Amino acid sequence: MEKISAYVTEKAKSELKPYTYDGKVGDNDVLIKVSHCGVCQSDIHLVDGDWGDVYPCIAGHEIIGTVDRTGEKVKTVKIGDKVGVGWQCNSCNNCEYCENEEETFCKENQPTCVEHFGGFAQKVISNERFVIPIPETMDSAKTAPLLCAGITVYTPLKRYVKKGDKVAIIGIGGLGHLAIQFAKKMGCSVTAISRSKDKELESKEFGADNFITSEPKPDSFDLIINTTHISPDMNMYMASIKPKGTFVQVGISETSLDVDPGLLIGGNKSVAGSGIGSPKMIKEMIKFAQKNNVYAKVEVLPMSNINEALNKTRMNEARYRIVLENK
Ligand SMILES: [Zn+2]
Ligand SMILES: [Zn+2]
Repeated sequence: MEKISAYVTEKAKSELKPYTYDGKVGDNDVLIKVSHCGVCQSDIHLVDGDWGDVYPCIAGHEIIGTVDRTGEKVKTVKIGDKVGVGWQCNSCNNCEYCENEEETFCKENQPTCVEHFGGFAQKVISNERFVIPIPETMDSAKTAPLLCAGITVYTPLKRYVKKGDKVAIIGIGGLGHLAIQFAKKMGCSVTAISRSKDKELESKEFGADNFITSEPKPDSFDLIINTTHISPDMNMYMASIKPKGTFVQVGISETSLDVDPGLLIGGNKSVAGSGIGSPKMIKEMIKFAQKNNVYAKVEVLPMSNINEALNKTRMNEARYRIVLENK
Protein backbone atom coordinates (compact mmCIF):
# COMPACT_ATOMS: atom_id res chain seq x y z
CA MET A 1 0.00 0.00 0.00
CA GLU A 2 1.07 3.54 -0.74
CA LYS A 3 -0.05 6.47 1.43
CA ILE A 4 -1.23 9.19 -0.97
CA SER A 5 -2.02 12.81 -0.01
CA ALA A 6 -4.78 14.42 -2.05
CA TYR A 7 -7.68 16.89 -2.04
CA VAL A 8 -11.07 15.29 -1.59
CA THR A 9 -14.66 16.35 -2.24
CA GLU A 10 -16.77 14.68 0.45
CA LYS A 11 -20.18 15.86 -0.76
CA ALA A 12 -21.56 17.83 -3.69
CA LYS A 13 -20.53 21.50 -3.84
CA SER A 14 -18.37 21.31 -0.69
CA GLU A 15 -14.87 22.79 -0.43
CA LEU A 16 -12.07 20.37 -1.22
CA LYS A 17 -10.11 19.27 1.84
CA PRO A 18 -6.74 17.57 2.39
CA TYR A 19 -7.13 13.80 2.57
CA THR A 20 -4.91 10.73 2.69
CA TYR A 21 -5.72 7.32 1.25
CA ASP A 22 -4.03 3.96 0.84
CA GLY A 23 -3.42 3.31 -2.87
CA LYS A 24 -2.71 -0.17 -4.20
CA VAL A 25 -0.16 -0.43 -7.02
CA GLY A 26 -1.09 -3.63 -8.90
CA ASP A 27 1.28 -5.67 -11.06
CA ASN A 28 0.32 -3.73 -14.20
CA ASP A 29 0.04 -0.35 -12.48
CA VAL A 30 2.26 2.70 -12.40
CA LEU A 31 2.50 5.05 -9.42
CA ILE A 32 3.03 8.59 -10.69
CA LYS A 33 4.29 11.56 -8.68
CA VAL A 34 2.03 14.35 -9.95
CA SER A 35 3.82 17.56 -10.90
CA HIS A 36 0.88 19.25 -12.66
CA CYS A 37 -2.86 18.69 -13.07
CA GLY A 38 -5.21 20.80 -15.20
CA VAL A 39 -8.71 21.80 -14.09
CA CYS A 40 -11.28 20.58 -16.63
CA GLN A 41 -15.01 21.38 -16.80
CA SER A 42 -15.67 17.70 -16.06
CA ASP A 43 -13.94 18.12 -12.68
CA ILE A 44 -16.44 20.88 -11.88
CA HIS A 45 -19.34 18.59 -12.85
CA LEU A 46 -17.98 15.86 -10.55
CA VAL A 47 -17.33 18.20 -7.60
CA ASP A 48 -20.67 19.99 -7.95
CA GLY A 49 -22.77 16.82 -8.06
CA ASP A 50 -23.96 17.20 -11.67
CA TRP A 51 -22.96 13.59 -12.37
CA GLY A 52 -24.45 11.99 -9.28
CA ASP A 53 -23.17 10.76 -5.94
CA VAL A 54 -19.53 10.03 -6.73
CA TYR A 55 -18.16 10.80 -3.26
CA PRO A 56 -15.63 10.73 -1.79
CA CYS A 57 -14.15 12.11 -5.02
CA ILE A 58 -10.59 13.06 -5.86
CA ALA A 59 -11.02 14.75 -9.22
CA GLY A 60 -8.27 15.76 -11.67
CA HIS A 61 -7.51 14.01 -14.97
CA GLU A 62 -5.08 16.20 -16.93
CA ILE A 63 -2.05 14.82 -15.20
CA ILE A 64 1.68 15.20 -15.82
CA GLY A 65 4.27 13.73 -13.50
CA THR A 66 7.11 11.28 -13.14
CA VAL A 67 7.04 7.54 -12.60
CA ASP A 68 7.60 6.89 -8.89
CA ARG A 69 7.14 3.13 -8.76
CA THR A 70 6.09 0.39 -11.18
CA GLY A 71 4.19 -2.86 -10.67
CA GLU A 72 6.09 -6.10 -11.28
CA LYS A 73 4.77 -6.66 -14.80
CA VAL A 74 5.18 -3.09 -16.07
CA LYS A 75 7.46 -2.92 -19.11
CA THR A 76 6.70 0.29 -21.00
CA VAL A 77 7.90 2.92 -18.50
CA LYS A 78 10.54 3.09 -15.77
CA ILE A 79 11.12 5.08 -12.60
CA GLY A 80 11.88 8.73 -13.34
CA ASP A 81 10.18 8.85 -16.77
CA LYS A 82 8.03 11.89 -17.48
CA VAL A 83 4.48 10.73 -18.23
CA GLY A 84 0.86 11.86 -18.54
CA VAL A 85 -2.57 10.40 -17.75
CA GLY A 86 -5.93 11.64 -19.01
CA TRP A 87 -9.61 10.83 -18.40
CA GLN A 88 -9.20 7.05 -18.67
CA CYS A 89 -6.81 4.96 -16.54
CA ASN A 90 -7.87 1.37 -17.28
CA SER A 91 -10.07 -0.94 -19.39
CA CYS A 92 -10.70 -4.73 -19.67
CA ASN A 93 -7.83 -5.29 -22.14
CA ASN A 94 -9.77 -8.18 -23.63
CA CYS A 95 -12.78 -6.97 -25.68
CA GLU A 96 -12.94 -6.12 -29.40
CA TYR A 97 -12.33 -2.43 -28.66
CA CYS A 98 -9.34 -3.01 -26.38
CA GLU A 99 -7.84 -5.41 -28.92
CA ASN A 100 -8.32 -2.81 -31.64
CA GLU A 101 -6.64 -0.03 -29.60
CA GLU A 102 -9.98 1.76 -29.16
CA GLU A 103 -10.07 1.37 -25.36
CA THR A 104 -12.30 4.44 -25.03
CA PHE A 105 -15.29 2.29 -26.10
CA CYS A 106 -14.58 -0.58 -23.67
CA LYS A 107 -17.55 -1.41 -21.40
CA GLU A 108 -15.11 -1.56 -18.49
CA ASN A 109 -13.65 1.85 -19.27
CA GLN A 110 -12.29 3.10 -15.92
CA PRO A 111 -12.22 6.88 -15.57
CA THR A 112 -9.26 8.30 -13.65
CA CYS A 113 -11.42 10.20 -11.18
CA VAL A 114 -14.76 8.35 -10.92
CA GLU A 115 -14.67 5.34 -8.56
CA HIS A 116 -10.90 5.82 -8.71
CA PHE A 117 -8.79 8.55 -7.14
CA GLY A 118 -7.50 11.19 -9.56
CA GLY A 119 -4.85 13.83 -9.99
CA PHE A 120 -5.70 16.53 -7.45
CA ALA A 121 -3.09 14.78 -5.35
CA GLN A 122 0.61 14.24 -4.75
CA LYS A 123 0.43 10.90 -6.55
CA VAL A 124 -1.92 8.90 -8.77
CA ILE A 125 -2.11 5.26 -9.88
CA SER A 126 -2.89 4.17 -13.47
CA ASN A 127 -2.72 0.98 -15.49
CA GLU A 128 0.46 1.18 -17.61
CA ARG A 129 -1.47 1.06 -20.90
CA PHE A 130 -2.92 4.48 -20.09
CA VAL A 131 0.38 6.05 -19.03
CA ILE A 132 1.58 8.23 -21.89
CA PRO A 133 5.31 9.03 -22.23
CA ILE A 134 5.85 12.80 -22.44
CA PRO A 135 9.05 14.25 -23.96
CA GLU A 136 11.24 16.10 -21.43
CA THR A 137 11.33 19.14 -23.73
CA MET A 138 7.56 19.69 -23.50
CA ASP A 139 6.58 22.21 -20.80
CA SER A 140 4.66 20.23 -18.17
CA ALA A 141 2.10 22.90 -17.22
CA LYS A 142 1.26 23.74 -20.84
CA THR A 143 1.11 20.07 -21.82
CA ALA A 144 -1.16 18.85 -18.98
CA PRO A 145 -4.41 20.15 -20.60
CA LEU A 146 -3.61 18.23 -23.79
CA LEU A 147 -4.37 14.98 -21.90
CA CYS A 148 -8.12 15.75 -21.81
CA ALA A 149 -9.02 19.06 -23.50
CA GLY A 150 -6.46 18.46 -26.25
CA ILE A 151 -7.41 14.90 -27.14
CA THR A 152 -11.12 15.77 -26.99
CA VAL A 153 -10.71 18.11 -29.96
CA TYR A 154 -7.82 16.33 -31.70
CA THR A 155 -9.84 13.11 -32.15
CA PRO A 156 -12.71 14.60 -34.22
CA LEU A 157 -10.32 16.83 -36.21
CA LYS A 158 -8.21 13.79 -37.04
CA ARG A 159 -11.30 11.82 -38.04
CA TYR A 160 -13.10 14.39 -40.17
CA VAL A 161 -10.74 16.94 -41.72
CA LYS A 162 -8.14 17.09 -44.44
CA LYS A 163 -5.80 19.87 -45.46
CA GLY A 164 -7.61 22.89 -46.88
CA ASP A 165 -10.94 22.15 -45.15
CA LYS A 166 -12.92 24.93 -43.56
CA VAL A 167 -13.42 24.33 -39.85
CA ALA A 168 -15.44 26.31 -37.30
CA ILE A 169 -14.89 26.07 -33.56
CA ILE A 170 -17.76 27.18 -31.30
CA GLY A 171 -16.61 28.35 -27.87
CA ILE A 172 -13.09 29.66 -27.31
CA GLY A 173 -12.18 28.28 -23.89
CA GLY A 174 -10.08 25.37 -22.62
CA LEU A 175 -11.08 23.10 -25.52
CA GLY A 176 -11.65 25.74 -28.18
CA HIS A 177 -8.25 27.45 -27.93
CA LEU A 178 -6.58 24.07 -28.51
CA ALA A 179 -9.00 23.15 -31.32
CA ILE A 180 -8.06 26.34 -33.21
CA GLN A 181 -4.35 25.49 -32.94
CA PHE A 182 -4.71 21.84 -33.96
CA ALA A 183 -7.02 22.64 -36.89
CA LYS A 184 -4.71 25.39 -38.15
CA LYS A 185 -1.64 23.13 -37.89
CA MET A 186 -3.53 20.42 -39.82
CA GLY A 187 -3.75 22.93 -42.70
CA CYS A 188 -7.38 24.00 -42.26
CA SER A 189 -8.92 27.43 -42.56
CA VAL A 190 -10.32 28.13 -39.09
CA THR A 191 -13.23 30.28 -37.95
CA ALA A 192 -13.62 30.93 -34.21
CA ILE A 193 -17.21 31.50 -33.04
CA SER A 194 -17.63 33.11 -29.62
CA ARG A 195 -20.08 35.36 -27.84
CA SER A 196 -17.17 37.29 -26.29
CA LYS A 197 -15.82 39.88 -28.68
CA ASP A 198 -12.81 40.24 -26.35
CA LYS A 199 -11.53 36.82 -27.48
CA GLU A 200 -11.00 37.93 -31.09
CA LEU A 201 -7.38 39.01 -30.78
CA GLU A 202 -6.26 35.90 -28.91
CA SER A 203 -8.26 33.60 -31.21
CA LYS A 204 -6.28 35.03 -34.10
CA GLU A 205 -3.03 34.57 -32.17
CA PHE A 206 -3.99 30.90 -31.71
CA GLY A 207 -4.33 30.72 -35.51
CA ALA A 208 -7.95 31.54 -36.35
CA ASP A 209 -8.35 33.07 -39.82
CA ASN A 210 -11.77 34.50 -38.97
CA PHE A 211 -13.65 35.40 -35.81
CA ILE A 212 -17.42 35.84 -35.62
CA THR A 213 -19.86 36.59 -32.82
CA SER A 214 -22.91 36.32 -35.04
CA GLU A 215 -24.64 33.90 -37.39
CA PRO A 216 -22.31 32.12 -39.85
CA LYS A 217 -23.11 32.32 -43.58
CA PRO A 218 -24.77 29.28 -45.23
CA ASP A 219 -22.48 26.66 -46.85
CA SER A 220 -19.36 27.85 -45.05
CA PHE A 221 -17.82 24.86 -43.25
CA ASP A 222 -16.78 21.24 -43.74
CA LEU A 223 -16.71 20.68 -39.99
CA ILE A 224 -18.07 22.46 -36.94
CA ILE A 225 -16.96 21.44 -33.44
CA ASN A 226 -19.13 22.71 -30.60
CA THR A 227 -17.01 22.82 -27.45
CA THR A 228 -19.59 24.65 -25.34
CA HIS A 229 -22.16 23.40 -22.87
CA ILE A 230 -24.74 25.77 -24.31
CA SER A 231 -27.42 24.13 -26.46
CA PRO A 232 -26.61 25.16 -30.03
CA ASP A 233 -29.05 26.56 -32.61
CA MET A 234 -28.73 23.41 -34.71
CA ASN A 235 -30.72 24.58 -37.71
CA MET A 236 -28.58 27.69 -38.06
CA TYR A 237 -25.38 25.67 -37.79
CA MET A 238 -26.51 22.84 -40.09
CA ALA A 239 -27.33 25.45 -42.74
CA SER A 240 -23.78 26.80 -42.41
CA ILE A 241 -22.27 23.34 -43.09
CA LYS A 242 -21.36 22.41 -46.66
CA PRO A 243 -22.72 19.24 -48.31
CA LYS A 244 -21.21 16.06 -46.74
CA GLY A 245 -20.04 18.14 -43.76
CA THR A 246 -20.31 17.23 -40.08
CA PHE A 247 -21.33 18.93 -36.85
CA VAL A 248 -19.51 17.40 -33.86
CA GLN A 249 -20.67 17.92 -30.30
CA VAL A 250 -17.94 17.46 -27.66
CA GLY A 251 -19.45 19.47 -24.77
CA ILE A 252 -22.44 17.99 -22.93
CA SER A 253 -25.21 20.44 -23.81
CA GLU A 254 -28.03 21.27 -21.42
CA THR A 255 -30.77 19.98 -23.74
CA SER A 256 -31.15 17.58 -26.68
CA LEU A 257 -29.90 18.65 -30.08
CA ASP A 258 -32.96 19.63 -32.11
CA VAL A 259 -32.35 19.51 -35.85
CA ASP A 260 -34.61 19.73 -38.90
CA PRO A 261 -34.05 16.44 -40.82
CA GLY A 262 -34.45 18.31 -44.12
CA LEU A 263 -31.21 20.15 -43.35
CA LEU A 264 -29.39 16.82 -42.93
CA ILE A 265 -30.89 15.00 -45.92
CA GLY A 266 -30.41 17.69 -48.57
CA GLY A 267 -26.63 17.82 -48.30
CA ASN A 268 -25.91 14.37 -46.80
CA LYS A 269 -24.83 16.09 -43.59
CA SER A 270 -24.05 14.44 -40.25
CA VAL A 271 -24.41 15.26 -36.59
CA ALA A 272 -21.88 13.39 -34.47
CA GLY A 273 -20.47 13.14 -30.99
CA SER A 274 -16.88 12.56 -29.92
CA GLY A 275 -15.27 11.86 -26.57
CA ILE A 276 -11.59 11.79 -25.52
CA GLY A 277 -9.34 9.33 -27.42
CA SER A 278 -7.46 6.05 -27.03
CA PRO A 279 -3.90 5.88 -25.66
CA LYS A 280 -2.72 5.32 -29.26
CA MET A 281 -4.44 8.55 -30.33
CA ILE A 282 -3.10 10.46 -27.30
CA LYS A 283 0.47 9.37 -28.16
CA GLU A 284 -0.04 10.53 -31.75
CA MET A 285 -1.45 13.87 -30.51
CA ILE A 286 1.53 14.43 -28.19
CA LYS A 287 3.91 13.90 -31.14
CA PHE A 288 1.86 16.28 -33.29
CA ALA A 289 1.75 18.90 -30.51
CA GLN A 290 5.51 18.72 -29.94
CA LYS A 291 6.29 18.96 -33.66
CA ASN A 292 3.83 21.79 -34.32
CA ASN A 293 4.24 23.69 -31.05
CA VAL A 294 0.65 23.27 -29.87
CA TYR A 295 0.27 23.99 -26.16
CA ALA A 296 -2.43 25.19 -23.80
CA LYS A 297 -2.35 28.77 -22.61
CA VAL A 298 -2.35 28.30 -18.86
CA GLU A 299 -2.47 30.03 -15.53
CA VAL A 300 -0.47 28.02 -12.99
CA LEU A 301 -1.55 27.95 -9.32
CA PRO A 302 -0.14 25.92 -6.43
CA MET A 303 -2.11 22.71 -5.72
CA SER A 304 -2.98 24.18 -2.30
CA ASN A 305 -5.03 26.90 -4.07
CA ILE A 306 -7.33 24.21 -5.47
CA ASN A 307 -10.59 25.78 -4.27
CA GLU A 308 -9.67 29.11 -5.87
CA ALA A 309 -8.77 27.29 -9.10
CA LEU A 310 -12.12 25.49 -9.22
CA ASN A 311 -14.00 28.73 -8.52
CA LYS A 312 -12.25 30.57 -11.34
CA THR A 313 -13.08 27.71 -13.71
CA ARG A 314 -16.75 27.73 -12.53
CA MET A 315 -16.94 31.49 -13.14
CA ASN A 316 -15.48 31.03 -16.64
CA GLU A 317 -12.50 33.19 -15.68
CA ALA A 318 -9.74 30.75 -16.73
CA ARG A 319 -7.67 32.04 -19.66
CA TYR A 320 -7.59 29.41 -20.99
CA ARG A 321 -6.84 26.63 -18.54
CA ILE A 322 -5.84 26.63 -14.88
CA VAL A 323 -3.15 24.11 -14.05
CA LEU A 324 -2.33 23.14 -10.47
CA GLU A 325 1.30 22.56 -9.58
CA ASN A 326 2.81 20.49 -6.77
CA LYS A 327 5.89 22.26 -5.43
ZN1 LIG B 1 -11.62 16.62 -18.91
ZN1 LIG C 1 -12.24 -3.76 -23.19
